[in-house]
Amino acid sequence: METVLIKNLGDHVGQQVTIQGWLYNRRSSGKIQFLIVRDGSGLVQGVMVKKEVAPELYEAAQTLTQESALKLTGLVRAEERALGGFEMQVTGVEVIAIAEEYPITHKEHGVDFLAERRHLWIRTPRQVAILRIRSEIEHALREFFYQHDFVLADAPIITPAACEGTTNLFELDYHGDKGYLSQSGQLYNEATALALGRIYCFGPTFRAEKSKTRRHLLEFWMIEAEMAYFDVDDNMKLQEEMVCFVIQRVLHKCANELRTLGRDVAKLEAVKLPFPRISYTEAVEILKQAGEEFVWGDDFGAPHETIISNHFNAPVFVHRYPTAIKAFYMKPDPQDPTVVLGADLLAPEGYGEIIGGGQRIDDLNLLKQRIAEHKLPEDAFEWYLDLRRYGSVPHSGFGLGLERTVAWLCGLDHIRETIPFPRMLHKMYP
Ligand code: ATP
Ligand code: MG
Ligand code: MG
Ligand code: MG
Repeated sequence: METVLIKNLGDHVGQQVTIQGWLYNRRSSGKIQFLIVRDGSGLVQGVMVKKEVAPELYEAAQTLTQESALKLTGLVRAEERALGGFEMQVTGVEVIAIAEEYPITHKEHGVDFLAERRHLWIRTPRQVAILRIRSEIEHALREFFYQHDFVLADAPIITPAACEGTTNLFELDYHGDKGYLSQSGQLYNEATALALGRIYCFGPTFRAEKSKTRRHLLEFWMIEAEMAYFDVDDNMKLQEEMVCFVIQRVLHKCANELRTLGRDVAKLEAVKLPFPRISYTEAVEILKQAGEEFVWGDDFGAPHETIISNHFNAPVFVHRYPTAIKAFYMKPDPQDPTVVLGADLLAPEGYGEIIGGGQRIDDLNLLKQRIAEHKLPEDAFEWYLDLRRYGSVPHSGFGLGLERTVAWLCGLDHIRETIPFPRMLHKMYP
């Protein structure tokens, strides 16, 4: 008997197959039992008619508890009314493990209750759909870079100094020295880009965020690209192509998952190239027109980002932020050095900043000056300054937050569901 995944049952209509999974739910009406089984790829309803199977089999099925592990054998039928469009006429059940009384029932549970049981919560169809979409997004991103001749160059996780400011660092003991968990691979990416041309890294990022928000985790995954001979405009163009590529892939490959989540796919289908581009100064005007008391020079908060992206109803690039609020390595605009050649991409529907990026300083003396202004220790950056001593070129890069992208594409209102085991303020279990 062929063993198949539930998501592929459509290829086996009219055949006897076996699926391997867990009992999600069971309903019975005396003469007929419905075994709803999940296998991680989908859900299917197994139908067992009392008079059609052996009495022992029918009775054994009645003892199955939620989350019992089992293999189901039966005939695949197309059934429009069933979940996924198919059902199984069950002819055999092999019980692998009877589950104890399962804490997560089919009733509504509070999010704290579920978060404490995250190791089990991830089995529910909604969470499975999110994690499958996350996987598809990761895959699509890697493929996009592969197709564009990027080299995957992993940045270190343990670093000797901060690059995104010192407030959010996780410190560790490096055999008597101080080490820090990486907040971004960027400085290293600049080095590998000058070695390899176009590179990306895709690794965990650690930030000891001190406030609770819907979009900050303490450990998250960021895909970071860095390109030699790219200016700020080349950078934005690559990013918008990447985002559209990922959306198309998810729409194409994850239609069932999006349906499970009740995602309004028209909103994703509406995302078209090119994305609007506005300067920070123009964005401030939009905020003022919307009645916000916003002072030029401040950083945007989540509500500001929402107002700006709602104005366009599309992903929007905001470029040329004030130099004072951006990292030391961002290149000031030669036309107006009070702003930098950086751009953030704000997602629509209030999802806020999903990408931060920009062109880097390529001049040695200017970089030294910026390091001094930021009161950073120059000796820690000697190697980084070398990149400006030996064959410095205009170069740019960006970082896309994976979890924020997952939240947007899935239509989630909190980032905690976008990763199997979220690390949040004062929350590390399980
Ligand atoms: P924010 O302003 O929202 O705090 P940031 O400007 O600090 O973000 P960057 O340093 O630009 O973030 O990092 C690049 C991307 O990484 C962000 O655009 C976002 O998608 C993601 N990101 C940043 N911090 C977090 C976090 N704590 N949890 C999840 N994703 C994050
Ligand atoms: Mg931040
Ligand atoms: Mg930001
Ligand atoms: Mg940013």
